[in-house]
Amino acid sequence: MTLGAMEGTIEITATRTSAEQHCIEPNCGARFGINERLYVCSQCGGLLDIERTTEDDAETLRTVWQARLASFDPRDRSGVWRYRELLPFTESAPIVSLAEGNTPLYDAPRSARYCGLAALRLKHQGLNPTGSFKDTGMTVAVTQARILGARTVVCASTGNTAASLAAYAARAELQCAILVPSGQITNAKLAQSLDYGAAVLELEGNFDDAMRVIRELTEDESIYLVNSINPFRIEGQKTVAFELMQQCGWRVPDHVVVPGGNLGNSAAFGKGFKELFDLGIIDRLPQLTIVQAEGAAPLAHLFSDSDGGRFTADSLLPDARQLAPVKYPNTLATAIKIGAPVSWKKALRAVLWTGGRVLSVSEDEIADAKAIIGRDGIGCEPASATTVAGIKQMIQKNLIEREETVVAVLTGHVLKDADYAINYHRQNLYTHDSESLPGEMRRIEGNYSNPPASVKATKAAILEYLKREQPQQ
Ligand SMILES: [Zn+2]
Repeated sequence: MTLGAMEGTIEITATRTSAEQHCIEPNCGARFGINERLYVCSQCGGLLDIERTTEDDAETLRTVWQARLASFDPRDRSGVWRYRELLPFTESAPIVSLAEGNTPLYDAPRSARYCGLAALRLKHQGLNPTGSFKDTGMTVAVTQARILGARTVVCASTGNTAASLAAYAARAELQCAILVPSGQITNAKLAQSLDYGAAVLELEGNFDDAMRVIRELTEDESIYLVNSINPFRIEGQKTVAFELMQQCGWRVPDHVVVPGGNLGNSAAFGKGFKELFDLGIIDRLPQLTIVQAEGAAPLAHLFSDSDGGRFTADSLLPDARQLAPVKYPNTLATAIKIGAPVSWKKALRAVLWTGGRVLSVSEDEIADAKAIIGRDGIGCEPASATTVAGIKQMIQKNLIEREETVVAVLTGHVLKDADYAINYHRQNLYTHDSESLPGEMRRIEGNYSNPPASVKATKAAILEYLKREQPQQ
């Protein structure tokens, strides 16, 4: 490795690659060295993208990535670092890894029938080391924290980010501080963060309040912020698009559908697909659809206000249409209960690049879709189920044809929110949403609930019960 002409630019002699950070705002476009500690553009406050150029051609990259599937090198065993030619690091980077990625792409026939599709595949990012999609970004961001010499890493989180950062910080032997909105983190996620040794600080207020205070904190040099505004996390998460396409034999599905919360994941998918397309590794882009929960759907509102069609790349100019934050985001899908998503411009850009759309689904739709995904033997946390609910809605509106190829991305493990699942199946799941009477909670009617049964402790009673309750297709 040698340093390039520009300060902080990496140049690897073997493959002639280089990386830098640049502002996504079209009328700014400021450029920065890869190791400048920035979270947003220092000139205009815009979001930063990491740009890495490579001289490797499509055939070489596909061949190398394929060969690594049979390798035992820890970097090759990681579903993120396997694609390191497109990551902004040198060969000697001090990688912090938990063998993340490598998540299955499941065929989900029952979910497909529920949606009205001939077939549906589910890419389950909830099967990462800490049970959520966050790990693919965290391995890269914590590696960068190590390179920058940070002593403490912090994030504000509704839970999955907290659990993931806590684990990777522990691996890197860094201090980790988690800021969570008080009472808004599930037990499972809290348990993980505590077990991995993080300092968990419960704040009054919601997730957006936590975001604000954390930005103030990072003015301290020894602290490195690892929220989804961090462009290195997006770099890690974009590799999910690479892994997905490799699993598809580089045959691009018509649609890829992702849940939308803070929108870093949607942004990362868009960036990943676009990089593959620009390199000639895939021959077209899948339509990227983002599905938000109705009570926390600012991007879906912005998108529907525009009829979906009036946006162009130019409308991402800072003075153009702005996202109106949802002041009191409300959904039982806590992982996407976010009213002011920081990555909305990048996510909208991804939707525009791919000709996709943004929509929202109700609490009832999420709850039933989640149960159906469970019946495929797969399971997921509530936020993930927005995808299947969204696909069903798009089929009903003729926005997806029955025979089209569709991949839905599940982002969290079913055990991330066990209480939700139990309450749904016991018909005890309550929400406070637009359908509720003022000041009252509304019960969500579970159409696929599967409550536990009380049966006498005799062979005859059990056999009779099983005969009566034979599952139907
Ligand atoms: Zn800028």
